[in-house]
Amino acid sequence: MTTAFFIALGCILMFDGVVMAFFAWAVHSPRFAQYRIRTPDRQRISNGRKAVNIALNAMLALSFFAFVFVYFGDNLIANESVPGVMIFGEVLASLMLYDFMYYFLHRGMHHPKVMKYVHGVHHYVRFPTSAESIFLHPAENLAGLGLLCLAISIVGPVSAVSFLIIFFIHHVANILVHSNLVLPHPAFRLFNFWAIKHDIHHGKHLNRNYASIFPFWDQMFGTYA
Ligand SMILES: [Zn+2]
Ligand SMILES: [Zn+2]
Repeated sequence: MTTAFFIALGCILMFDGVVMAFFAWAVHSPRFAQYRIRTPDRQRISNGRKAVNIALNAMLALSFFAFVFVYFGDNLIANESVPGVMIFGEVLASLMLYDFMYYFLHRGMHHPKVMKYVHGVHHYVRFPTSAESIFLHPAENLAGLGLLCLAISIVGPVSAVSFLIIFFIHHVANILVHSNLVLPHPAFRLFNFWAIKHDIHHGKHLNRNYASIFPFWDQMFGTYA
């Protein structure tokens, strides 16, 4: 892993922060009110509690990746560049495998006991916004990131570029599925689809739409709505 890799990683994290802040602002702005999927009736979580949870989870995620890079870096990232078609294959395979495993992790977390002590923290958010994308129990945060690294190490080790693209898509998708917004421009079609599907999971049907990126896992296992 080179200095350029860590600079790119830092840029992705800053971009994530900007995207999260923008969508968190937009969902509460009167200018975007017409694009809300649902209008929150009341705020169940205080801004202070939200900020503490999000800050702790962000620090936990950074510490997790520092640990993984030091001890398992060679399992994740190969020190060689690969052609574009290989990058596409590594990204697609890693994300598909991750989402497949995440489907079962997420479905398992809906077991009443796990829901009560772990996943219920995230579902306390009835009207998610991008800021709540990492409003999680720390164990769920670590399990999700661990699963992403596991998927990459099974497919890989992947090239540094592939890792950065996977990291980018995983993080941006997680922020946007919680945006609670459907924006009219065709460029947002995929993001709108993700947001609508995940909003159903937070709202009407807790036992539907467990996958986060590829809806066909839910279609395959009969939990699509
Ligand atoms: Zn859930
Ligand atoms: Zn969610």
